[in-house]
Amino acid sequence: MKNAIAHLTPEAIEKAFAGTNFGRTDFEVILAETVLERAAGYNPGHRATSIATRLGLLGDKTGNVTKAGHEWAMKIFYSHHKQSKQPYEQPEQEIFTCERCGRKTSHPEGWHYCGA
Ligand SMILES: [Zn+2]
Repeated sequence: MKNAIAHLTPEAIEKAFAGTNFGRTDFEVILAETVLERAAGYNPGHRATSIATRLGLLGDKTGNVTKAGHEWAMKIFYSHHKQSKQPYEQPEQEIFTCERCGRKTSHPEGWHYCGA
């Protein structure tokens, strides 16, 4: 199966964004957002739109999301989704035991309805 986004290497993306200032550098996410906004019927910013068009994510004439655009949005969505699903360490919960009523609580500051 032909990969419609094979040309979207990190180098190619960085080159496409060269000289721009979006105030952020997660260019691949900016591209995915541009595609999704376009798909949802919004008009993303002109600069982002023209970059996405140049990279083949949006149709040159129609402005519609291309096959590559859809694939790109999926790829970014799933790669970030996976990242966020990675197990992370839960902060150790401090259990507070009330000296007066003996209740245990993990609320901050040992907050509880005191039964004493
Ligand atoms: Zn108590």
